[in-house]
Amino acid sequence: MNLKDYIASIPNYPQEGVIFRDISPLMGDGAAYQEATNQIVKYAKERGAEMVVGPEARGFIIGCPVAYELGIGFAPARKKGKLPRETIEVDYGLEYGKATLTLHKDAIKPGQKVIICDDLLATGGTIAATIELVEQLGGEVVGCAFLVELNELNGREKIKGYDILALMDF
Ligand code: AMP
Repeated sequence: MNLKDYIASIPNYPQEGVIFRDISPLMGDGAAYQEATNQIVKYAKERGAEMVVGPEARGFIIGCPVAYELGIGFAPARKKGKLPRETIEVDYGLEYGKATLTLHKDAIKPGQKVIICDDLLATGGTIAATIELVEQLGGEVVGCAFLVELNELNGREKIKGYDILALMDF
C-alpha cells in the first residue's frame, strides 16, 4: 500500500500559492489509517514512549490511536482558553500573527518519555511549541511523528537534535 495515494493535494487552499495536503482520505480508509498508525506505534515502542502528546486538532487524530494501541496515555495540547484546569503556555509564530498553545500542568510527569504526534510538519512552529510545553513539565521528548513532512519549509531545522519520523514527504 502506498500511503501517498491517500493524501489529497488541493492547490491554492486555504490561500493562493499554498498546496493543502489533506489527510482525510487516509483517515477515511480503514486499512490506510491502520497502516499509518501501526508504523507510528512501532516507532513509539522502539523509543520507549510512555505518553503521547498531540497538538489540536489533527494531532489528536494521529496520536490517540497510537496511545490506545500502546496502552499509554494521551495529553492534548490546545489553543489558549480550551483546557479547563491549570495550564502552562507557550506563544508561537504562525504565518500570520501569533498563537498560544497550552497543556495541563499535570499532563506529564517529570522524566516521562513522550512522543509527539501531528498530521503534518510545515514550518515546525507548532511542534517546537509542543516540545517546549512538554519540556517545561520535565518530560523527555523521545520522538516526533508525522504523517507528512513538507520539505521546502524546512521545519526540521527548527527542531534540530530531535528524532523525527515522517511517513511521507512532499
Ligand atoms: P507548522 O506549525 O507550520 O509546522 O504547521 C502546523 C500545522 O499546520 C500542521 O500540523 C498542519 O495541520 C497545518 N498545515 C500547515 N501547512 C499545511 C499544508 N500545506 N497542508 C495541510 N496542513 C497544513
